[in-house]
Amino acid sequence: MSTPETRPEGLSALLGKRPEQHKYDHGHAVIVGGPPGQGGAARLAARGALRVGAGLVTLGCPLRAVTENAVQLNAIMVRGLDGTAGLAEMLEDGRITAVCLGPGLGLGPATAELVKTTLRAKRGTILDADALSRFQRAPQALFDMLHDHVVLTPHAGEFARLFPDIAKRHKAGEVSKLDATREAAVRAGSVVLFKGSETVIAAPDGRHAIQTAEGDRAAPWLATAGAGDVLAGMIVGLLARGLDPLRAAEVGAWLHVEAARSFGPGLIAEDLPEALPQVFRQIG
Ligand code: AMP
Ligand code: MG
Repeated sequence: MSTPETRPEGLSALLGKRPEQHKYDHGHAVIVGGPPGQGGAARLAARGALRVGAGLVTLGCPLRAVTENAVQLNAIMVRGLDGTAGLAEMLEDGRITAVCLGPGLGLGPATAELVKTTLRAKRGTILDADALSRFQRAPQALFDMLHDHVVLTPHAGEFARLFPDIAKRHKAGEVSKLDATREAAVRAGSVVLFKGSETVIAAPDGRHAIQTAEGDRAAPWLATAGAGDVLAGMIVGLLARGLDPLRAAEVGAWLHVEAARSFGPGLIAEDLPEALPQVFRQIG
């Protein structure tokens, strides 16, 4: 398990006493996604957000997918969104503190509009998976919209789609993963979390962190379908609770590995959120 030295700095803020009484004091995270027949990724993200302690979590999904998502979720609210206008209307609620787009969002034209609408609302935002890949042909158009409360969470393939030249130099061994991530964060103007067995996180101002799942913290069983979706959800939950983007990314990545290590081999993505209470008990 972890030693105190490996624990990220932002963790103490998370574990501090929660004297407030109301669920809204712990933030309201929204996951946008979950089309018919493909809602698993968005639901996994939603469970991750709830288990890191967001006070409320809402899954905003297409109207025609409300029933199928709702029958599989209890504590997580499900709201049908009538396209981009529906999302814009939902985000008028100032109590929504963070939004996650990507897991189970799809690659259709609506995705770019949903991303734009979310970024205009200036909440803590995490963009993952389809929300990143959708901008493969014009990454700069995405970067131009980003603000300083955004976290991008690409895996190697998504990183190469957004930052092809940097990825090429990294693959050729000309720049380290840390330098590649730092350069990407400066270019994007937001926090970038570059996933892998070693997860590197960098902010545009040069701050950075590394969360390793190698050596004595190895958890190769974490490389499993849906694990990244849970991580995105955990980070949006931490953003919703008020952690700044770099800390939310760093603490999220650390908790993700801890949850995997506490569960062990045989882990599937569903187990990650469920393993979090045990992790919190051990470190609290
Ligand atoms: P995704 O590709 O979006 O499903 O994300 C995969 C998740 O698994 C990320 O959180 C990675 O950091 C993590 N991961 C990938 N490979 C390894 C590995 N060898 N050991 C531990 N974690 C890994
Ligand atoms: Mg993924």
